[in-house]
Amino acid sequence: VKSADQYLQSIRDGRHVYLRGSRIRDVTVGEAFGPAVRRVARGYERYFRDEPEAWHPMYEVPSSPDMLRERLHLVEDNDVTTATSAAVLTLVTACSRSEVIEDRYGDQIRAYMDWVRREDLRVAELITDAKGDRSLPPSKQDDPDLYVRVVDRTESGIVVRGAKFHVSAAPVVHEFVTMPTKRMKVGEEEYATAFAVPANADGVRIIGSAQSPTEEDARHFPASANLAMPEAMIVFDDVFVPYERVFLDGEVAESALFAHSLGLWERLSGLVDIAHRADVLVGLAQLVAEANGVAGITHIKEKIADIIIYSTMIRAGIEASINAAEELPGGICTPSELYTNALKYYAAANYHIVLRNVQDVAGGSVVTAPTIGDLEHSEIGDYVAKYLRTSDDIDARYRLSLFHLIRDLTADAHGGKYMVGYLVGGGGLMAQQLVTRKHFDMERAKRAAILEGELAARSNS
Ligand SMILES: Cc1cc2nc3c(=O)[nH]c(=O)nc-3n(C[C@H](O)[C@H](O)[C@H](O)COP(=O)(O)OP(=O)(O)OC[C@H]3O[C@@H](n4cnc5c(N)ncnc54)[C@H](O)[C@@H]3O)c2cc1C
Repeated sequence: VKSADQYLQSIRDGRHVYLRGSRIRDVTVGEAFGPAVRRVARGYERYFRDEPEAWHPMYEVPSSPDMLRERLHLVEDNDVTTATSAAVLTLVTACSRSEVIEDRYGDQIRAYMDWVRREDLRVAELITDAKGDRSLPPSKQDDPDLYVRVVDRTESGIVVRGAKFHVSAAPVVHEFVTMPTKRMKVGEEEYATAFAVPANADGVRIIGSAQSPTEEDARHFPASANLAMPEAMIVFDDVFVPYERVFLDGEVAESALFAHSLGLWERLSGLVDIAHRADVLVGLAQLVAEANGVAGITHIKEKIADIIIYSTMIRAGIEASINAAEELPGGICTPSELYTNALKYYAAANYHIVLRNVQDVAGGSVVTAPTIGDLEHSEIGDYVAKYLRTSDDIDARYRLSLFHLIRDLTADAHGGKYMVGYLVGGGGLMAQQLVTRKHFDMERAKRAAILEGELAARSNS
């Protein structure tokens, strides 16, 4: 596996990355992508083993609920590339779910996975197309490039054009695994394309968005200064993809399979992240309540209890999802579709309420507190120390650090990114409603309703 230095070296590869109107020639330099690069590098450091056969445990294909649980611990303990690299597991899952994919692409999917594992690469998942007018299918858009499509082919590969949006960690990974965002119809074969290209491939443009702090004093941004991860819009301007990296090529009937398989991995990893974030928010709400002297007040305790219930429901749902895992042909063990999607819906739909509770407990200083720089200022520092303290036990520095962390996590660019990301990442609420409906045993529910009615009718007679 790679060392941290080898990782840094490997992403100085001439990729075309842009941020806030400027070209970033080296993503490892400067603060725009600095927190993300450092975080991924720490992950490399952590798992580094100087042995030719070693690979990162995230590339272990889970074949039992226990292995699935292990994988989720890894996702929770590491940066988001541990989750996005599941794009490779998605390809393997697609083979297990479709004979067509297995027969036509199984060998090259496994060869790709072996290569990614051997080279210890990080991968981004590219699903979400530009989509233009959402009411129209790809083939009816006024610009045919609004969904990624094949525009040409040669003897050795395809040429693709289009754009994928919101791609997590894209500026700091090596490979882009790309797949259709939804089922394509007959006549839309050019859009039924899945493939992998390196981030520095000719014609790839990475237009980044980042929530890393732009101010000099990172103490005002205690979370995002260390944890911010960028997203990016990826443009494919006639990019050549050799056939050995093509995993779907015109099979419209199989085109939704990849998005469904990815959705499952993506939603479960997202849930692990939300569970972790919810625990942090419980702790922060309790700490700030204690620091403000309101921890014993009934409505404050109720609000914190609501966050505790949210976090506990998510942990319980993840456990249920693992315990009801399915074993697919080929031995891969995947989490329960029903439980994962129902839980993702619950977590996404209620996260805003969690934030509301934390902010209500903490008060307005979340967004107006002076900075640590103000506290240290020779002219105003004493005022800040005097008016921001609670008691001899709770001084201003401590309270300011709580307010800044809560603002960074809930009320600023980084927290706002998560607020939207948890809601729509892995597909919006509608996507989870659809999948939950599909996997719910409606016949059992109808039988139960009929039986209930019959029993009531009998007891009334
Ligand atoms: C922080 C973050 C990280 C993300 N990471 C990734 C990633 O790594 N890779 C990736 O591929 N994507 C990623 N996404 C994208 C995410 O999956 C999408 O945002 C999500 O699928 C919604 O798509 P959209 O943003 O284009 O919104 P839209 O599709 O425009 O949806 C907006 C609303 O319109 C509704 N809508 C849209 N079309 C229809 C229709 N035809 N019928 C009925 N209702 C419709 C939706 O249900 C929703 O309510 C990420 C998003 C965020 C915010």
